[in-house]
Formats: sequence, C-alpha cells, structure tokens
Amino acid sequence: MKNKRLLTRAKLGIVDSILGLAAWINRLFSEQRHNPYRCSTCGSTDVLTRVWVMPNKGSRYVEDCIDSAICDDWCNSCNQYARIRPTDVLLAKAEEWWGETDFRDMERVTGYYILDFDPEDGYQAFVDTCNEWWDGETTDDKITVYLNNQ
Ligand SMILES: [Zn+2]
Repeated sequence: MKNKRLLTRAKLGIVDSILGLAAWINRLFSEQRHNPYRCSTCGSTDVLTRVWVMPNKGSRYVEDCIDSAICDDWCNSCNQYARIRPTDVLLAKAEEWWGETDFRDMERVTGYYILDFDPEDGYQAFVDTCNEWWDGETTDDKITVYLNNQ
C-alpha cells in the first residue's frame, strides 16, 4: 500500500516535470514572448488572464477564455481587474496618439519648449526634435507615456 502511494507520487512528479517542461518550451516559441500582453491601464506585463485547462490531465492548457462576461483579466501592478492587450496593439495606439499630439502636449511630454526654437517653417525644428525624442523612447516608455496621457 505504501509502495503504491510512493509510486503514484513519483508518477505525478514526473508528469508535473514533463508538463512544466512543455509549458517552458511552449513559452519559448510563443508569440507572447516577443509580444507580451500588457495592462491597458498602466502598461505592466505583470498580468493574468483566465484560460480553460483540463483539470484531470495535469491542468493542461486548452485555450484562452474569450467570453468577456466571465473572463476578466487581472493586473498585479494595478491590483485590480484590467483589460489586457498585446504590446503591438498598445504600441500602435501610442504611435497614433503621438502623431496627433499638438505643440502643447509635445512640450509637456518631452520637456522641450517651442519658444526655444526658431519659428521659421512653422517650428519644424521643434517638431523634429520632439519626434527624435519620441523615436528614442523604448516600447515600454512609449506605451507608458501614451497611457499616462489618456
Ligand atoms: Zn495595470
């Protein structure tokens, strides 16, 4: 009886190890590794989402839960339910937002002042400097700036 329990425990340990290895390999080649989901409120990648698993097969992943009525996402940074989106979606929104910012927002976000630039050509030097600043920002920073200005 005791040997049977030890054998069962050993089998479960092996199954857990294999499932853990499979999850690691899956993550290694997944899109989320290069395009992680982020909180659409704060931009954090420390988020959770609900998924369907097979509880009788070591909680093997089946698919993402897509029923919005029961599948709320969670952000550990906000410590609340939050909508999560892939990084490329939030980055596209950030780029679109930046393309529509006015001079006042550009000053506020970059710290450059339009009056420090030559007014010739409609302050094109100011716009170019602000765009260079934006292009130098990381994806994380662009998303954070965008989300902080919504
Ligand atoms: Zn958040």
